[in-house]
Amino acid sequence: SGILTTSFVILIILSFSFWFLIRTILRQKTLEEMKSDFTNNITHELKTPIAVAYAANDALLNFNLAEDKKQREKYLCICQEQLQRLSGLVEQILSMSMERRKTFRLHPENFHLHDLFPTLIEQHKLKADKPVEIILDIEPEDLTITADRTHFSNILSNLIDNAIKYSPEKAEIAIRCRKTETGQVEISVSDHGTGIPADKQPLVFDKFYRVPTGNVHNTKGYGLGLFYVKTMVEKHNGNVTVKSEPGKGSTFTIRV
Ligand code: ADP
Repeated sequence: SGILTTSFVILIILSFSFWFLIRTILRQKTLEEMKSDFTNNITHELKTPIAVAYAANDALLNFNLAEDKKQREKYLCICQEQLQRLSGLVEQILSMSMERRKTFRLHPENFHLHDLFPTLIEQHKLKADKPVEIILDIEPEDLTITADRTHFSNILSNLIDNAIKYSPEKAEIAIRCRKTETGQVEISVSDHGTGIPADKQPLVFDKFYRVPTGNVHNTKGYGLGLFYVKTMVEKHNGNVTVKSEPGKGSTFTIRV
């Protein structure tokens, strides 16, 4: 019976080891698959603006457009736009891969929201391709926050970008900053844009997700902005929520 018990124990240990091995292999496979999906998606996203910029540049070189000032400007603008698109994408990829690293650290500092917003708003108004009106309401006036300034302004930048991008023709945006009863800082960015259908709202924070609109030329994007927002807000031990109604507008609220 001693031999039987020993064999039984060995059998149990072997089965466990086998199960553990299989589980590890399977896990690695899904991780590998996720990585390859990510690389495929990103490669596709990078290829498009490069191809467009190439074509515009080619046109500039080959067709002697240099003589036609209007045409030349048009093609130069296309190049410029695509370069901006590329640099935006590269920036987001960098922030995301940085976030995935074990050594990723936030560098929190204490600053007044009033020191952050006016410049941020000015930058967005300058680069917008449509009229933009932004109301800023910080209460109390001297509200401060402890956050990583770079990432925090990227978070807000993404929300303001979207509010402008998804407002057809004219963007009317309201930014409100408050302190909650629990001592958190709450910042909301509201627009009167296209809005998001209720069933799509939980998906907008997913990597690469974009609400299908039927019109592919509607807006440019990679579906990474809100994924970055959510990841970074959570790194700050906060959360982000959305309230939206199609045709009326959207409000994104972060609490940190
Ligand atoms: P994208 O680069 O597509 O803008 P985001 O991750 O920033 O990527 O947003 C994901 C999707 O959520 C967008 O494609 C859009 O469909 C929707 N969305 C985000 N912000 C807004 C907004 N303010 N109004 C309407 N839809 C929005």
